[in-house]
Amino acid sequence: MELVDGTLHTNIAGVGLDPHYVRAEGNSMWAAARDGSEVEVVDFVGGYGSLLLGHNHPEIVAYATEVLNARTPIHSQFSRRPEANRVTEVLNSVLRREFGTSDTYFGVFANTGAEAIEAAVKHAELDRGLRIQALAGQLAQNAEQAVAAGAAVDEATLSRYGVPSTGSARGDLTALLAEIGARNSLTLGKAPVIFTLEGGFHGKLAASVQLTHNPAFRTPFTSLAANARFVAVNSADAVRAAFESERATVLDLVVTGGVAEVVEVPAPVFCAFFAEPVQGEGGIVPLSPEFAKEISAVSAEFDCPVVVDEIQSGSGRTGAFFASSHVGLQGDYVTLAKSIAGGVAKLAVLLVRESRYRPEFELLHSSTFAKDGFSTLIAQKTLEVMERDDVYRLAEERGAKIVAVLEALRSEFPEVVKDVRGRGLLLGLELHNQAASSSQTIAGAQAGGVFGYLVSGFLLHRHQVRVLPTGSAPNTLRLQPSVYVTDAQIIQLELGLRAMCAAVRDADEATLLSF
Ligand code: PMP
Repeated sequence: MELVDGTLHTNIAGVGLDPHYVRAEGNSMWAAARDGSEVEVVDFVGGYGSLLLGHNHPEIVAYATEVLNARTPIHSQFSRRPEANRVTEVLNSVLRREFGTSDTYFGVFANTGAEAIEAAVKHAELDRGLRIQALAGQLAQNAEQAVAAGAAVDEATLSRYGVPSTGSARGDLTALLAEIGARNSLTLGKAPVIFTLEGGFHGKLAASVQLTHNPAFRTPFTSLAANARFVAVNSADAVRAAFESERATVLDLVVTGGVAEVVEVPAPVFCAFFAEPVQGEGGIVPLSPEFAKEISAVSAEFDCPVVVDEIQSGSGRTGAFFASSHVGLQGDYVTLAKSIAGGVAKLAVLLVRESRYRPEFELLHSSTFAKDGFSTLIAQKTLEVMERDDVYRLAEERGAKIVAVLEALRSEFPEVVKDVRGRGLLLGLELHNQAASSSQTIAGAQAGGVFGYLVSGFLLHRHQVRVLPTGSAPNTLRLQPSVYVTDAQIIQLELGLRAMCAAVRDADEATLLSF
């Protein structure tokens, strides 16, 4: 009896997506065949982004072995962590190079992508809470000063806030202060406003799943944490409108010429704005430079930190270490995971810009396995390999080659290929909706949202090419191989995709299911 994901595996077995891989190296995996032999498969999904350097990169595996043989401390809580520090230093130098900035970022370590997002949510909310505290302190101080000065309040001000006059200046001031104090408490006690993008994916833990747009993943858990406001992707006008609709003010009392007046001050209701520079699970959707610029500018104007989620797009995949550097979206927070530890260890890093960093967080957020000696050393080595070999250029060059293949297929099969998107080695091939196919199997798969899985099964079994749809846009096939994908492997992909497109165009279900 299968005790792990048994139901899921039963469901995907129908389209042949339940192989068992027994070995993996470079851009290949070997599946166990029924007769005991191994079948080589070219991997175009690359651990959904964790394998920019391929499976079991020889230098990283050799280094990992060395680290273990040397009896390196792996768990050493409450001690200095030069390895984690070194990783953060290198990330700072890469970030300064790519963004042309002199800003410093502090590192917070975690184990998985979703955890780094949770850390970002928590840090941003801690920061917002401290900003609220500072503002409340300022309001209280101004109120005290008004009382000490024996300030008067005019009738118009009292009636504007629905406060009946007591007939004494002192009484009126006290009543007005009570009223604005109550209103301020309501405003400052509201749940934080978190913005994220339609189509966005930021993880599946209790808080991060609220930022993930896909309702199937999110809605069963909406009662667990603060809900996000979703902003239409690449719609520059939507950014300011979103902020305007959520802005709030608190009431402050200022005394001029012995008379107390109420003025409105912006309330820190905005916790964070989350965005992936290239949406991965949402169907490989790059942010336009105009949209990225609008997010930066408007968020800064409303004092809302921007969290740039580079978990899938970052660590070199798009031709730069940070995909956000292509569109000038410098985050106040940046999250990294997946390929950062070379596909060998599990590690995630949250970078926090110095101007936003709250040292209080260091005691408030930790995990037994985060920043462990093994994964931080592996990340250090991975960064060394990436920088030394300029894998960014390789990602760009390999990506361009794959795009040329995909674009040719789009011209050849306009009725099957809808769009080609992405950057570097984060590419998507969107297929047209096949609900009107004359094949009942194809139309039925489309109606059930599994058409992308059907063609993935065909590609795997008939062409030994491993592709899969993106998590939330199942008609888009993701192509994110390692930088070591060869010309021959790209030709294998091309042959497979061409056969798939022809079968879909011809409603040839016999071919698609012939495995
Ligand atoms: N953010 C993005 C952009 C991702 O693509 C993912 C994973 N697909 C996550 C967050 C969550 O990462 P993890 O699966 O390591 O929790």
